[in-house]
Amino acid sequence: MVSRCCPLLFSALKRTARNLVGAALLTTAASSSSKPSSSAMDADLQTLTTRLCIVGSGPAAHTAAIYAARAELKPILFEGWMANDIAPGGQLTTTSDVENFPGFPDGIGGLDLTDKFRAQSLRFGTQIFTETVSKVDFSSFPFKLFADSKTVLADSVIIATGAVARRLTFPGSDTFWNRGISACAVCDGAAPIFRDKPLAVIGGGDSAMEEATFLTKYGSKVYIIHRRNEFRASKIMQHRAVSNPKIEVLWNSVVAEAYGERSLEGLKVKDVKSGSVLDLKVSGLFFAIGHEPATKFLDGQLELDSDGYVVTKPGTTQTSVKGVFAAGDVQDKKYRQAITAAGSGCMAALDAEHFLQEIGSQEGKSE
Ligand code: FAD
Ligand code: NDP
Repeated sequence: MVSRCCPLLFSALKRTARNLVGAALLTTAASSSSKPSSSAMDADLQTLTTRLCIVGSGPAAHTAAIYAARAELKPILFEGWMANDIAPGGQLTTTSDVENFPGFPDGIGGLDLTDKFRAQSLRFGTQIFTETVSKVDFSSFPFKLFADSKTVLADSVIIATGAVARRLTFPGSDTFWNRGISACAVCDGAAPIFRDKPLAVIGGGDSAMEEATFLTKYGSKVYIIHRRNEFRASKIMQHRAVSNPKIEVLWNSVVAEAYGERSLEGLKVKDVKSGSVLDLKVSGLFFAIGHEPATKFLDGQLELDSDGYVVTKPGTTQTSVKGVFAAGDVQDKKYRQAITAAGSGCMAALDAEHFLQEIGSQEGKSE
């Protein structure tokens, strides 16, 4: 089976190559136009200072960066290095076509869209580092952020670290992980072991619909296993899936066990209403059961809700710490769309700009 990380690693490597080009362009642009702060120019410094540090690399982080850079805040952005197993660019790097982002009437590939976000951030002077922020200290001012080889002192911070796909645990789930079980149909679905074989997807949201529909290109049949008797997916996505002749839905069903010899050969699927157990012969199982917000690295320094999402003041992106803002899926468990993430990224940049004006932060002040 193609490991889940391979296509992601490939896209991460592709991005790293682009980073080098981007950094070169940035340095060239900087030397020929207005002089940037020394902190933003010298990538070798271990401690950098900035008026705004953005953590994340999806639509929220890059929209915030575009607005902040155009407002001449010279933001530093940490895009992560396979942070939470996702390539720089975020969740959209794991999907094929994005058909609901305005401006692309024919749709656009997820990876292409994230490349465009990144290019636009760079164009206006955002300094991007391909490192993961592992620790923060928001207890004193300026705020401190710690990455692999850099510490940043920032007058304001935007957290836009998004969310991560969830996995289920049952007998066999670990044994057959990457040997038939995956959490990314788009990454792994084309692997030879799935070709012309029956496959299954667990979930009832848009991801499950999208992944099941996608898998019909490769599998002989695709079962959607859902724990309830109705989907939460949008009507159009539901319709697309259930009207596909290769897809069959197993309602009120949960996976009790995965079995096989060297790779996955089947599942014991339990009907939660009747208690009966079905022996489902499948060679692939894909989790599409939602996401967890990427907030562990915050280590309790911001108020989180019971599901681990950053709490923001309604109508703003302000978190429990003044000067620290949050945008995108890391603070949104309801809408979770690229466009809503981008919208809140814009809000976070404007909120940060107002905060910096309020405290009288100026270029060079914190250097
Ligand atoms: P994310 O996209 O979650 O990105 C955050 C990224 O930040 C991480 O992935 C990682 O690279 C980086 N990061 C995380 N932690 C750190 C750290 N500590 N330090 C540095 N960097 C870090 N939405 C749509 O509107 N249309 C669609 O068609 C669509 N299709 C989807 C298909 C799939 C399979 C999935 C999973 C989601 C889809 N979505 C779609 C939802 C959409 O991708 C998300 O709503 C959106 O990407 C959220 O953006 P974000 O900016 O909050 O962060
Ligand atoms: P969702 O949270 O929307 O759905 C998760 C699904 O998994 C639910 O049906 C849920 O069941 C089920 N589930 C959760 N936990 C378990 C469990 N322990 N056992 C069995 N089933 C479980 O997540 P998605 O990833 O589908 O979507 C996230 C966001 O991304 C959404 O906002 C969606 O609109 C968006 N998206 C948009 C796409 C598009 O527009 N093209 C494509 C993909 C995603 P239950 O319903 O019973 O709670």
